[in-house]
Amino acid sequence: MAISFAERERMPVEGREKYLVERLRWICQYAYENAPAYRKKFAEVGVDPSEIGSLKDLEKIPVTTRDEFIEQQRQNPPFGGFLAVPIGNLKRIYVHPGPQYETLGEADIEHVGWVLQKLGIKRGDIVINALAYHLVPAGLLVDDVLTQQGITVVPTGFGNTDLQVQIMHNLKATVFIGFPLFLMTIVKRAEELGYDFCRDFSLKRALALGRSTVRKSLEEDYKISTREVYAYLPVGVAACECEQKDGMHIEEDFIVEIVDPATGKQLGPGEIGEVVITPLFGDVLPRIRLGSGDLSFYTDEPCPCGRTSNRLVRIVGRVGDAAKVRGMFLHPLELEDVVSQLPGISRFQVVVDREGLRDTLIAKFELVDETVDKGKLAADFHRDFQSRCRLRVDKVEFVPQGTIPADAKKVEDQRKEIIL
Ligand SMILES: [Zn+2]
Repeated sequence: MAISFAERERMPVEGREKYLVERLRWICQYAYENAPAYRKKFAEVGVDPSEIGSLKDLEKIPVTTRDEFIEQQRQNPPFGGFLAVPIGNLKRIYVHPGPQYETLGEADIEHVGWVLQKLGIKRGDIVINALAYHLVPAGLLVDDVLTQQGITVVPTGFGNTDLQVQIMHNLKATVFIGFPLFLMTIVKRAEELGYDFCRDFSLKRALALGRSTVRKSLEEDYKISTREVYAYLPVGVAACECEQKDGMHIEEDFIVEIVDPATGKQLGPGEIGEVVITPLFGDVLPRIRLGSGDLSFYTDEPCPCGRTSNRLVRIVGRVGDAAKVRGMFLHPLELEDVVSQLPGISRFQVVVDREGLRDTLIAKFELVDETVDKGKLAADFHRDFQSRCRLRVDKVEFVPQGTIPADAKKVEDQRKEIIL
C-alpha cells in the first residue's frame, strides 16, 4: 500500500473518492477473473467490470444477500463459486449458521489490527476477549491480531459470568472486547458478589460490538470508556467510532452504501436504508455489494477529529422489521428509543394505515397514571418522533389501560398493500 491507514483516514474528500474507485475497479476485475460466481453475476446483468468507473456504477451490480450466499453454497459447495484461491491455501474456514462457509485473508487480519490499534489497545493491556471462539471468526481473529502485536489476551469467550468476574478481577484486566450487554452482566454480577467495580477492578476500556442501551451506564456509572464498531463478521469491521463518539467512520478500505432494499439504489445522507458493504481488499473471498440486512443512515458532515470519511450515525434495526412509511423506514427500535425518553407511558404502539395514497400514522399511548400532562406529552412526542424518525405522526391518542396487548407489535402496519 502506498499510503498508510493513518494517512488514508485524512484524505481530502475528492482524493478519497478517486482512491475508492481505483480499488473498486481492481476488486471487480479480480473477482470477475477469479471467482466464478461473480463472473456469472456480472454476465447476468450484462455488465463488464471495465464499465465500473464510479461509486454510482456499483448500482449496476445486484446486491448479494446472505441467503443468496447460503443458497449458492448449497448448490455448489462449499463456497458457491465465491472463493478466488484454491481451498488448500486458506488458513481457516469458519462456519456460520446456514451453514455458510467463510474465510479471511491476510489483508482482513491486517485491517482489524489497525482498528484495534487506533482504539488505543496497546502493549501492557490485559484484554478479556469475550467473543466467540468456536466456528466463527470473531474470537480467533481478534486473538491473532492482539497476540501478533504483543498484547496479552485472555481467551474467555462468551458466557461463564462468575468465572469472568473472577478472571477480570484477579488479572486486573484493562480492556474488554465483546457485547456491551454481556459486560454489564459481568459488572452487575461483580456487584452482587460484594465488589465495588470502580474501586476493585482495573477495566478502563471496552470495544463494544453493536448498539446497546447499557452503554451510557457503563461509561458514566462504571467509568469504562466504550467505542462502538460496526462489525459485520463476513467482512470484518466496516465502521468504527472515533474519540468524538458521534457516529462510526466508514473504514478506509470499504465502500459502505446505504441503499433502498427494494431497488438497490443508493440513498443520500440522512436517509435510512440497508447497509451494503464492499470490502476493497478481499483477495481471498471477494465480496461485492454484500447486503447486511441492517438498516442505518449516514452523515457527510465534517467530524472534529479530522477524519474525512462519512459516518454511519447508528444502526437502527433489521430490514425485515421495519415498515416503509412515506418513503422512510420506521423501525420499532427507533420508536422505542423516542418513547423511552418520555415519562409516564406504560405501553405504546404506532399504527400505520393508508387514506387514499397517503400513509397515516397514529400513536397510541397507555399511561402509568392519568394525571400526566397529556398536552405536553403529545407535543414532546411529536417533536422527538419527527426529529428522530423524520416522519410526522398524524395523531396521538391516549387509550385506557389494557387496550394495547402486552405482546402487540410496536409498529402495527395495517396497510393492505405497500407502495414503495
Ligand atoms: Zn471523527
